Amino acid sequence: MSQLSNLCLTASINTSIPDLSIVVPIYNEAESLPKLIEAISQTLQENCLNYEIICVDDGSKDSSTEILRQMASKRHDLKAIIFRKNYGQTPAMAAGFKYARGKAIVTLDGDLQNDPADIPMLLAKLEEGYDLVSGWRKKRQDHAVTRLLPSKIANWIIGRVTGVKLHDYGCSLKAYRNELVEDMNLYGELHRFLPALAYIEGARITELPVRHHPRRYGSSKYGIWRTFRVVMDLLTVFFMKKFLTRPMHVFGFLGMISFGLGTLLGIYLTFVKFILAQNIGDRPLLILAVVLILTGVQLFSFGLLAELLMRTYHESQNRPIYRVREIVSNKNED
Ligand code: UDP
Ligand code: MG
Repeated sequence: MSQLSNLCLTASINTSIPDLSIVVPIYNEAESLPKLIEAISQTLQENCLNYEIICVDDGSKDSSTEILRQMASKRHDLKAIIFRKNYGQTPAMAAGFKYARGKAIVTLDGDLQNDPADIPMLLAKLEEGYDLVSGWRKKRQDHAVTRLLPSKIANWIIGRVTGVKLHDYGCSLKAYRNELVEDMNLYGELHRFLPALAYIEGARITELPVRHHPRRYGSSKYGIWRTFRVVMDLLTVFFMKKFLTRPMHVFGFLGMISFGLGTLLGIYLTFVKFILAQNIGDRPLLILAVVLILTGVQLFSFGLLAELLMRTYHESQNRPIYRVREIVSNKNED
């Protein structure tokens, strides 16, 4: 290590609040973990950055937890958040965001598929005034049929639905301004929709081509089924974007139309029965009128319930989606 980077290291130890937090979700990455931490710290020290690394162990079943615990108790730049069980990548990232103190946050995978050497470039872009810089794995090193194709289709659909045009939503290597992620609640696989959710909040977003390596250690935690879960989450994001704060506008409106049509039909049938003195008992129109009126009432009450739920949703924002077992760090400031 050069003398310069030694100086930088001392600076980063002495300053308690880091400028940059690196968030890494870890699930069974024992082999790559030590190399990853080394690679990240080397790049950041060479660039004289004042940083902290936050690794979230998502209930690993291999020796990742032990390795992390040991490294975090020795190193000054590493904090380990250890989950009680496996919750998934999104809750792991949400926990990382919660504990990150840096003004900028960079997320990346724990398998060394992302290259820590790209971090300074993302930060420089963030400095240009963006709130979120997303990595774009231009030369992605994953399986063509099970991963690349579904991902291409998913990226296209996500772009169409959310209105945020990025080439690669799935790339974990992203840089954020802390305040952007501060009050974002993530569920399901929503971490990949962070750019879309941020866009709804008015964030400035851009992308940068980044390097991508084949997985050399451990195995991928996902297969083709992820695509379907992502599509379901996309529907949620679509709904949130459109109606979250005004469900009554949607359901109430539809309900009123249905109820109105049913009532008109009912009036017509009443006219036929009492003025024209015809039998209406066997007319399909009668069934339609009844169905429309009932549907209308149902939709309207659903809209009202959705309004109540929406208020609860917004007012109980602080509920975490995970339970932390312990936090390992050799600093005791928090
Ligand atoms: N991961 C996690 N919890 C899970 C699954 C994955 O924390 O339940 C982490 C995993 O350790 C890795 C990142 O999420 O750091 C991305 O996973 P993976 O590399 O398997 O996804 P891929 O690159 O194949 O899309
Ligand atoms: Mg990977």
